[in-house]
Amino acid sequence: MQNAGKTFNTFLFDMDGVVVDSMPAHAGSWRKIFCEFGLTLEDVDIFKREGMAGLDSIAEIFLEKNTVVPAIHELLMLQERKISVFEKYDVKIFDEIPGILSFLKNSNMKTALVTGSMRRSVDYMLDDRLQSFFDVIVTVDDVERGKPFPDPYLKALHLLDSNKDESLVIENAPMGISAAKAAFLTCVAIETTLPSEYLQEADNIVTSHGQLQSYLHNICGAPAPS
Ligand SMILES: [Mg+2]
Repeated sequence: MQNAGKTFNTFLFDMDGVVVDSMPAHAGSWRKIFCEFGLTLEDVDIFKREGMAGLDSIAEIFLEKNTVVPAIHELLMLQERKISVFEKYDVKIFDEIPGILSFLKNSNMKTALVTGSMRRSVDYMLDDRLQSFFDVIVTVDDVERGKPFPDPYLKALHLLDSNKDESLVIENAPMGISAAKAAFLTCVAIETTLPSEYLQEADNIVTSHGQLQSYLHNICGAPAPS
C-alpha cells in the first residue's frame, strides 16, 4: 500500500465502526424506532449516514421513505429514545484495537479519538483504560460543525500540535472520510460496515482490523504483528 513516501507520527481514530463494534447496535436501535412509524430500514440506511448529525439523519430517512418528517420536538424525543434503546446493547471493542493502540503508544506516536458521537457515548462505550490510550478525545460536543466538515479533525490536530502531512486518519464511513479529506489529511478506510465502493474517497482501504494492524505496523517500519 502506498502512502506517497509520507512519514506519520499522529494517528486519528474514528470511534464507531473503527474502535468499537457499535454500528450493528446503532442500526438495530434505529430500526426499532422507525418500525413504530411503520417504516422498515436496512442496515445500509444507517451505515451510509454514519457521522451525520443525529437529527439531520432522522429527518433525511423520513424523507427518503416518502413520509412526513415529524416536528423538531418529536425528532428530539426519538433521538433520546434511540439512545436509551442503544444503551441496552452490549457493545464490544474490536479485538485488535488494544494491541494497535499499545503498539502506537510504545512507538511514541500521538493518538486521538475523533468521533461524531457525543461525549456521553464515549464514556458509555470506552472504559478509562481504553480512553487513556488517546492523547486527546474530540467529540461532537467539542465542535460547532461535526463531520463531514473538517472541524473535528482540525481541532484534534491543533490540540496535538501535529502537522497535516504527518497525520493519518482511520475511518469507516463516507462522511468521516469526507471530513478527513476536507482537512487535507491522509485517510485509510476499513470495510467494517460498508464495502469499498462507498469508501472510494479514502487514500487506502483495508478489509479488516487484522489488515489495519499490519498496515499500521508497516507504516511505522515495525515487524508484522505476531
Ligand atoms: Mg465510524
